[in-house]
Amino acid sequence: NTSKKDVRDYIRTIPDFPHEGIMFRDVTTLFSHPRGFRMAIDQLLHPYAGEDIDVVVGLEARGFILGGAIAHQLGKGFVPIRKEGKLPGKTIKQPYTLEYGEAVMEIHDDAIEAGSKVLVVDDLLATGGTAEAGIKLLEKLGGEVVGCAFVIDLPELGGRAKLEALGMDVHILCE
Ligand code: 5GP
Repeated sequence: NTSKKDVRDYIRTIPDFPHEGIMFRDVTTLFSHPRGFRMAIDQLLHPYAGEDIDVVVGLEARGFILGGAIAHQLGKGFVPIRKEGKLPGKTIKQPYTLEYGEAVMEIHDDAIEAGSKVLVVDDLLATGGTAEAGIKLLEKLGGEVVGCAFVIDLPELGGRAKLEALGMDVHILCE
């Protein structure tokens, strides 16, 4: 179907997931479409192609799918930031606030060399809490976050403003 042109046309909205009143932006339909997925990867890395980037970091879980493809395309390595308890080696932890309660993100403490230039990738930016936790972990290891790339931003939740206030370059494909 060639009438589908933009990344947003491949994203599906599922009402009342994971609970009532939430409009969940489902990117599985973007990832499963060969043209949609390629378009998303190309557009996410476009500002960073030819830039000085050492490593791509993906946030669990959909950031792994995007980040892996971007790292491959840029010819760089990939590092995961995961939810607590998943990484096998020695980690550092960063708690962050969820809608209800707290969660913890982790990175292997030897995953990033001090001074590395890092591109952070995830599917969706809402409050920015997840990305902020990731940035804190990377900065604790001496990484320099040169960009944060997301397919979707939910602007009313303020994540972009939060990350920009931290001095981040934020790249968004659609709102
Ligand atoms: P934040 O920490 O910015 O409030 O939430 C962003 C995180 O929650 C991201 O890791 C993202 O994958 C996930 N998330 C929250 N809402 C949605 C949604 O509607 N669709 C998708 N695909 N992910 C979401």
